[in-house]
Amino acid sequence: MSPSASTEQPSPGRLVVVSNRLPVTLSQTNGEWEARASSGGLASAMEPILRQTGGLWIGWAGDDGELDPEQRASLLSSTAQDFAYIPVEFPPGAGEAFYKGYPNQTVWPLFHLFPARMNFDPPSWHDYVAGNEHFAATVAANLREGDLIWIHDYHLMLLPRMLREQDPAIKLGFFLHIPFPSSEAFAFLPRGDEVLLGLLGADLLAFHTHQHLQHFRSCLLRILAIESSMDSVEYQGRTIKLEALPIGIDPTGLASLIQHDPRTKERIEELRSQYADKHVIVAVDRLDYTKGIPERLHAFRTLMRQRPDLKEKVVMLQVAVPSREGIGEYQSLSSEINELVGEINGEFGTPQWTPVMYLRQSIERSSLAALYAVADVAWVTPLRDGMNLVAKEYCACKLNDDGVLVLSQFAGAAVEMGEALLVNPYDEEQVAAAVERALSMRPGERKRRMRHLRERVSRNDVFDWARRFLKSLAAVGLEQTPSAQALNVRAVEDAYKKASRRLLILDYDGTLVPIQDNPGNAVPPDALIRTLTRLAADPGNVVAVLSGRSADEMEDWLGAVPGLHLGAEHGALSRKAGTETWEHLVPTPGAMEWKAKMRSVFEHFVQRAPGSFVEEKEYSIVWHYRRVEPQFGHWLAAELAGLMEGLLAETDARPVLGRGIVEVRPVWVNKGLFASHLLAEEEPSLQLGAGDDSTDEDVFDRLGEHAWTIHVGTGRSRAQYWLKDTGAMLRLLDTLAATAEARAA
Ligand code: UDP
Repeated sequence: MSPSASTEQPSPGRLVVVSNRLPVTLSQTNGEWEARASSGGLASAMEPILRQTGGLWIGWAGDDGELDPEQRASLLSSTAQDFAYIPVEFPPGAGEAFYKGYPNQTVWPLFHLFPARMNFDPPSWHDYVAGNEHFAATVAANLREGDLIWIHDYHLMLLPRMLREQDPAIKLGFFLHIPFPSSEAFAFLPRGDEVLLGLLGADLLAFHTHQHLQHFRSCLLRILAIESSMDSVEYQGRTIKLEALPIGIDPTGLASLIQHDPRTKERIEELRSQYADKHVIVAVDRLDYTKGIPERLHAFRTLMRQRPDLKEKVVMLQVAVPSREGIGEYQSLSSEINELVGEINGEFGTPQWTPVMYLRQSIERSSLAALYAVADVAWVTPLRDGMNLVAKEYCACKLNDDGVLVLSQFAGAAVEMGEALLVNPYDEEQVAAAVERALSMRPGERKRRMRHLRERVSRNDVFDWARRFLKSLAAVGLEQTPSAQALNVRAVEDAYKKASRRLLILDYDGTLVPIQDNPGNAVPPDALIRTLTRLAADPGNVVAVLSGRSADEMEDWLGAVPGLHLGAEHGALSRKAGTETWEHLVPTPGAMEWKAKMRSVFEHFVQRAPGSFVEEKEYSIVWHYRRVEPQFGHWLAAELAGLMEGLLAETDARPVLGRGIVEVRPVWVNKGLFASHLLAEEEPSLQLGAGDDSTDEDVFDRLGEHAWTIHVGTGRSRAQYWLKDTGAMLRLLDTLAATAEARAA
């Protein structure tokens, strides 16, 4: 590590990258160990920042205890400049057991939507926990205050929580490089709840696409009953940021190989002369069942059968890099591909022509760049892929914009690569037709499509991706509002005395009266009625009680308090002091056809959970389950909310989980509107808002920055202050009422 790098830079903190494998391979040749740095996209994106901040990269070096720790450390340090590789030490055999078990036999197939290929062996879960613990120990031993920790991928999903428990103050981001499955698929994952809780230890969770992010959110809701917003989730008093950040590649590095590297140029020439009279199709994959290699070969066979005129005019170069060879699934895939290649070459080949050139090996970067540069078509059809870098690398190598990308719609890359020919890799006829179209596309169209693709790949490169992730991580905490402080009653009293015009907006349940098992029992006690009456009697006051309850209930309970404003249905309805009528503050609910449809679903949940009931209001429909056995109730509530998310996707209504309720209402109905309405009519010199749950946050947001915003109870809030419970709230209101009366006397 260079000491100057870490002291001179006003850097956002030292970067600590944690990934399963270090980007260095330790291998033995003729009894001598050597370390070779690999040149993947991730390594090239991380290394400049690691150098700049004097950072660390922590991961498994891949050896299985053959080396002693000093030897290993010294080999690794020979490959890093100005930063350090720190190996995670595993007991002999434990590293392999960790890697091959739960992550690759359970998580990998399920997250790629192959539940039938999922194997779960309970001991592998314990290896997964132990593996993550080894990482946690290594990270903890090397951590310094102010470090930014960036954890990569599905092998380490328990690590964020483990590190958070060791030190609640750390800044920690996690990026998932594989897809995140829908909640329906995720529900199959053994120990899935532990995995979600593990991830929630992070401050920032990022995925390749919005779809993956949405899936994660629906898993939180369905499996843990945790609500989230589009870009964050509140958990245990922390705000966890959620982002969709598609990874990029290093396009300049590839382009410079093609333009300046003699070996690459030589290889290009060789390939050009070898295939001078043929269309070259390239496919490059790790040998993995998610990549759809057999499916591609079947489609190629279909194409050859349909187009005999392509004989000797086309060649498909399939590179398949061996991967995870110790796992049975991968061995049988390899044999299947060998057989298919043999069959196809046997059926169509001639003495001068081998239609499928199958290279089951890893090839050098320079050869790969040459292959991309020469190929007329790239055939990239994974059955499911987090991103797929090959698609982007191909485009980056088409420096003359001449080439066609055939891309699976199930690769994360498809979201950004609309100019590719997008296909369903399971449909071999459709795929064959797309490849046929690619081979015969006119130059103008080819170039137009590729130019857009290449520009986008160049703009959103891997460096930009890393910068955006780290910027977001560095800002964690800075953007969050400080937690509320305990309310100083004396200070409110002083301000209250000085103000001539005051606006008080008070929530009802949980703020003025304790939450009841049966909502019908939360009748206002006489003492509360008296206090509200005294406050509303002060001509300097505008006092409003604003609830999610129906207008009828509010009127029954509080309608007789003179001078009190009432708000019902989260502020959609307002009854001004001194009037008897309710005014609609938002468009009338006539257009809400979804309500009728929801009713039957809600009724079904009532059948399933005796003691629960449905309440229908003008703007919403609510399932109350407070009297249902809590664990069962929460589980059903999460299921109901998840179901509603899907059913209501096309409407402006959304489910909201409250205390013992699931309420579905239009997004535009919220308590902030009611606050704005009152503020438009009044110019109060003192504003006070009090509430206990998430629906009250909109009031806090609308009141001015100098308002007294009070959160009643525990939990996170954007309010400035908190009070312990409804008792403390009532005492505050009594004190304020007495203040005014003393002054009047
Ligand atoms: N690759 C490689 N050696 C090869 C062939 C390919 O290193 O012989 C690289 C390729 O350039 C790409 C990566 O492997 O960067 C594959 O990434 P992708 O996202 O396509 O699939 P993954 O293997 O991550 O599932």
